[in-house]
Amino acid sequence: MGFLIVNVVTNGTFPIDLPEADLILLSLDGDKQRHNEVRGDTYDTIMKNISNATADNICFYMAINQINKDCVRDVCLTARNIKNVRAVSFNFHTPYPDTKELALSKEEKAKCCDTIIEMMKEGAPIFNLKSAFPYLIHNQFPTPCYQCVVIENGKLSTCGRCIDIPGLCDQCGYFFVAEYTLLFKGYPKVVFEMLRTYLKYI
Ligand code: SF4
Repeated sequence: MGFLIVNVVTNGTFPIDLPEADLILLSLDGDKQRHNEVRGDTYDTIMKNISNATADNICFYMAINQINKDCVRDVCLTARNIKNVRAVSFNFHTPYPDTKELALSKEEKAKCCDTIIEMMKEGAPIFNLKSAFPYLIHNQFPTPCYQCVVIENGKLSTCGRCIDIPGLCDQCGYFFVAEYTLLFKGYPKVVFEMLRTYLKYI
């Protein structure tokens, strides 16, 4: 397609046949009960589409919130045990004006990061950078990510469509923003870990 790496994001409710994608990021928001609570009754359809997928380059994409914060371990094990799934990548819920109540406290974010680190030690395939966790827990990473651009209906936004919501970037929960902004600032641990992680999962 003319790009070095092509990632596609999907909710997984349609058959998965994307030969041009290097990585398919598929939203999975917990175990069956919690995922369906967040995203409607789609868990079984998604699992069926994953097992029938034409490639094994699926990466779960989980936004951790007040509903599913205890499912981090479950999603890591599901990623490890299911054919066609290569890894899992996490975000924290970003408190958009209509879903503020789903956001995690700093203590809850720290607890989730501890679980993710434990799962990394147990060999779960996690497509995130441990070195960015302290910055994510305390929202101390630079925002927005000026290297990221989103185009929707002809409108071009720096970083994300949420760029226009006042104050939201200070509470951003997107791991990719922390990982990329710290990378572009030249944080050595992040640079090294990103190279190692990308070579492993893409
Ligand atoms: S930093 Fe980017 S992704 Fe995060 S809230 Fe701001 S615009 Fe959205």
